[in-house]
Amino acid sequence: MEISAALVIVQKYGGTSVGTVDRIRNVARRVLATQRKGHDVVVVVSAMSGETNRLLGLAQQISPIPDERELDVVASTGEQVTVGLMALAIHAEGGKATSLLGHQVRILTDSAFARARIQDIDVQAIRKAFAAQKIAVIAGFQGVDKDGNITTLGRGGSDTSAVAVAAALKADSCEIYTDVDGVYTADPNVVRNARKIDRISYEEMLELASLGAKVLQIRSVEFGMKYQVPIHVRSSFNDHEGTWVVPEEKAMEAVLVAGVTATRDEAKITLSGVPDRPGVQAEVLRPLAEAGIVVDVIVQAHIQNGRTNLTFTLPSADLARAKDILLKQCAGICPPEQLKSEENLSKVSVVGVGMRSHAGVALKMFEILAKENIHVHLISTSEIKISCVIEGKYAELAVRALHDGFGLAAGA
Ligand code: ASP
Ligand code: MG
Repeated sequence: MEISAALVIVQKYGGTSVGTVDRIRNVARRVLATQRKGHDVVVVVSAMSGETNRLLGLAQQISPIPDERELDVVASTGEQVTVGLMALAIHAEGGKATSLLGHQVRILTDSAFARARIQDIDVQAIRKAFAAQKIAVIAGFQGVDKDGNITTLGRGGSDTSAVAVAAALKADSCEIYTDVDGVYTADPNVVRNARKIDRISYEEMLELASLGAKVLQIRSVEFGMKYQVPIHVRSSFNDHEGTWVVPEEKAMEAVLVAGVTATRDEAKITLSGVPDRPGVQAEVLRPLAEAGIVVDVIVQAHIQNGRTNLTFTLPSADLARAKDILLKQCAGICPPEQLKSEENLSKVSVVGVGMRSHAGVALKMFEILAKENIHVHLISTSEIKISCVIEGKYAELAVRALHDGFGLAAGA
C-alpha cells in the first residue's frame, strides 16, 4: 500500500470567491476535499467582494484624508467577517476549523499603516490547528505591528498574506483562487484571444504585476521569489489547472514575449530649465519620496546653458499633491512657469525572459506602435521588459496590436 505524504497547502480565496454565503459554502467544500486527501490546509480569505471599498468609503465620508491607523482598524474588519463565516461553513460541512485574525496568528508587520510590510509570521497557532486536525482559516490583508496596532498590507494584500504564510510554513504550494483561470498573455477583457499562461517565472510575473496585471499583488510575488514558494493561480469556479508561478525554466527563454500589459491613470511632470548640477535630481525627488509618492519612468534630456529638462511619471492620483509639493519646496530649482504636467497617460509594456537572449524586441515594439500611428512619449526598459508611455486613449489599441504582433494569440 502506498501512503502519500501529507502536504502543507495554503489556499487563498479572493473577494469574488467568497462574495456570497453560497460561495463561502462552496469554498468550505473545496477546502475540506483537500484536507480529506490527508493534507494540512490553511485557508486565507479576502473580504467579500466590494466590502473593502465600502469600508474605505465610510471612512472617507467622515474624513477625506483619514488617519491611516484608524483606517486600517476599519478596513481590516472585512476579512474578520469572512474568516468567521468560513470557519462556520466548514463546521456546517462537518469539518473542523478555527479562524485566526492577523494578531492571533501574529503576522508581525512594520507600522506603515495601509501599506505595511510583513516582517515575521509565528506559525505556532497554525501548527496547533493542524495538530487538532483543524483547518486554519486566516484573515488576509491584515497584520499587527510591534505595538499591537492593527495594520493592513495595501490593496490586494491577501495574496501577500497567503504567500508569506506559505513561506513561513515551508508549504508545498500556495494556491491563489480567483475569478479567472490564471494569468493571461493580456487582459482578456481587452484582448479577446488572450491565452492562459501555463508556467511563468517569478521575474516575469513580478514585472507583469507591477505593470498592470492585477491578478497578484506585487509583494506576494516578491515573497514567492525570495522563499521559492510555487504559486498556483487558478479559478475557484472550476478545477482547471491555472498558471504556475515558479523559478525560471529553460523553455521560458524560447518565448520572446510572455505577456503584454497596460497601466492606466499615469501622469507626467516635466520640469524645464533645471540647473544641470550634481544632486539636482535628488533635490526634486526627495520631497516627493518623503510624501510617499512613487515616481516611475524618469528621463533627463540636456538643453543648453547648463540647464536640463527633467521628466518623470507618477500615478495620476498623486499629481495634485506632487505639484503642490514641488512648487512649495523646489521653487528655487523650478519656478512655476517651468513646471508642466500631463494626465491620462498609459504605460504599455511587453515582458519576457526571452528578450534577454533575443535582439530586436524593442525595434519590433516600436514598429508595431508606429503602424498604429501611436505617439510614444517616454520609453523605459529593463532586462526583461520594454515599456512605452503613450496617450491613455490608445492603450487598448496598443495592447491588442502588440499581442497580435508578437504572436501571442491563442492558436497563433
Ligand atoms: N480586501 C482587500 C482588498 O480588497 C485585500 C484583498 O482582497 O486582497 O484590497
Ligand atoms: Mg486580488
